[in-house]
Amino acid sequence: MTHQPVLSIQNLSVAYMARRGMVKAVRDVSFDVFPSETVAVIGESGCGKTTLALALVRLLSRSAKITSGKVIFRGGDHSAPVDVLRLNQRQLRAFRWRNCAMVFQSALNALNPVLKISAQVQETARAHGEHDAKRVEERALWLFQQVRLDPRRVYNAYPHELSGGMRQRVLLALGLLLDPQVVILDEPTTALDVLTQRTIIEVLKRLREEMGFALIFISHDLSMAAELAHRIVTMYAGSVVEIGQVNEVFYRPKHPYTLGLMRAVPNLSGGRAELVSIPGSPPDLIDLPKGCAFAPRCSYAQAICHEQAPPLEMRAPGHASACHFWDRLPVLRELPSSQEVG
Ligand code: SF4
Repeated sequence: MTHQPVLSIQNLSVAYMARRGMVKAVRDVSFDVFPSETVAVIGESGCGKTTLALALVRLLSRSAKITSGKVIFRGGDHSAPVDVLRLNQRQLRAFRWRNCAMVFQSALNALNPVLKISAQVQETARAHGEHDAKRVEERALWLFQQVRLDPRRVYNAYPHELSGGMRQRVLLALGLLLDPQVVILDEPTTALDVLTQRTIIEVLKRLREEMGFALIFISHDLSMAAELAHRIVTMYAGSVVEIGQVNEVFYRPKHPYTLGLMRAVPNLSGGRAELVSIPGSPPDLIDLPKGCAFAPRCSYAQAICHEQAPPLEMRAPGHASACHFWDRLPVLRELPSSQEVG
């Protein structure tokens, strides 16, 4: 990994305008993503991770507003860094797919049912200025092979002739068609069976090695995050509450929320450690409590937690957390196994 991040998210905040007020879905989020690195963003449903992903490629709904921050993209071709949030529509179209591809959970239904896969591949390429149909076809067939699909059969198929897992892999291949430097996957395997999930993880690992793209992996499946990611970002109530190397975060969590997520899933050995769900529910993002947003659910909370929001600070090399009592947390022994939280 080089020391220049390919994507720098800086103090990003996003709010949805609702009747009751502003829903602060993403609050002052900052982290870097380096070339060839996989960063997994974890947290319960509603913690802001999908809004964050949508903001990075500016695909937010009309009711959402980016209220502050920058998203700095650095291409590998010595071009100057650009703030994605300042790109005009033409630049943005080029940025999406060519520089940064995204495969969302709902994308399982994103393929046009009346068009063959071949037509959708060619259409995607043309829309981004790639008009050499033969070259596009060769690239698509190669990618289909990489994602373990029968290239010819899939290329000539209609979406309904493919299973959910096959369609998801088609979308992954489509995302990689223009050789992007960053790929964002939002819950890419949620609707798939465990074996297909495993295949996709293996495929992602291999392609990442071969193609060198950076991966932002949004998931509430800790086992997949543990297997795929170099670093983990834990989000709670729209904020980053912990960030660090995968083993650091999962073995030595420094935020009670990450610890809670870990304890809510079985460990890899299937040992007898008791599963404990996190009590309560996330706060109202329109009317956040004073102090630490996790305090009402936190068994480590003290009076100060209800008064002062803890800053996100380095607690160990490369490992930051936002908790007043981070040093009271235990060291864990097991990585999470294949069970979802949230
Ligand atoms: Fe819990 Fe306090 Fe840490 Fe917040 S700051 S996570 S309430 S111990």
